[in-house]
Amino acid sequence: MSYVGPDFDPPQPRRPRRRPLVVALAALVAGTLLGWAVYEAVGVPGDSGGAAVSVSGSPSRSASAAPSGSASASARDDGKKPTAGTASATSPSPTRSGAAASGPLRGKVVVIDPGHNPGNFQHTAAINRQVDIGTNRKECDTTGTSTNSGYTEARFTLDVAHRLRDLLQQQGATVRLTQDGDRPYGPCVDERARIGNTAHADAVVSIHADGSAAGNRGFHVILPEAVHAGAADTRPIVGPSRDLGARIAGNFVRVTGSAPSNYVGDGTGLVTRKDLGGLNLSTVPKVFIECGNMRDSKDAALLTSGAWRQKAAQGISEGIVSFLRG
Ligand code: ZN
Repeated sequence: MSYVGPDFDPPQPRRPRRRPLVVALAALVAGTLLGWAVYEAVGVPGDSGGAAVSVSGSPSRSASAAPSGSASASARDDGKKPTAGTASATSPSPTRSGAAASGPLRGKVVVIDPGHNPGNFQHTAAINRQVDIGTNRKECDTTGTSTNSGYTEARFTLDVAHRLRDLLQQQGATVRLTQDGDRPYGPCVDERARIGNTAHADAVVSIHADGSAAGNRGFHVILPEAVHAGAADTRPIVGPSRDLGARIAGNFVRVTGSAPSNYVGDGTGLVTRKDLGGLNLSTVPKVFIECGNMRDSKDAALLTSGAWRQKAAQGISEGIVSFLRG
């Protein structure tokens, strides 16, 4: 791997001090409008239960939800060790961080599922093992993708997961990761689902970045389709998962300024699938988010930026907070 630095931040040209502020404000305004667009999109007939996603376009409410960490985040090493008190998949039960004694999410359990595992590349036989996902059998896990310069999706997902964990703990949530780089490979997709189920998670989000063709840009949130086959029965979670996903999409647009995918989801940033074991086997509200396309150079410039990853985590966090506060 040709890693170029500890944080994979591409060199940023020096600009006059005022310009980034203007750009940031413009992005915020545009993002707010897009947030409403997503909100509008998910409010169409067919949205089960007519779940409200009222916070999507409300910068005033969510702006106060948590301190913005983007200024300091750019200096953080994305390979940092997990902080003490974080439960990982190897723990017998979710444990609360010492910093999470109070806050609006007190008593809420959030499971973060960092997609893939940095070690999967060295365990191809193990991760190719077929597991039962209810509708059919599928590989235990996959290696994930990477940018053209070799920044792996697995490293990206773990970094965003750490940032998201910190933000949610600041809100008082009990946070558990399905893996924290603390196991040689995996877990398999069925175990990833089981971890959320046995934790009785109030919300689960699986973090990913896509590996699509250059020119394909933007993020999308993947929602569970209703399936009822074998061990899979997503019917009870389709509605709440859609609500969770819509809130994450709206807040992700607003906070990151990134547009919804231009290659799936018809501009809504929302896609429904029934081929993902991690969703099929979930019994608690769960979505995936593909934060961008690692194979597109413009998206890759964002995904490799620590400051942008902090915004991504912030957008996801605010979506989860919105969902859990109702
Ligand atoms: Zn992935």
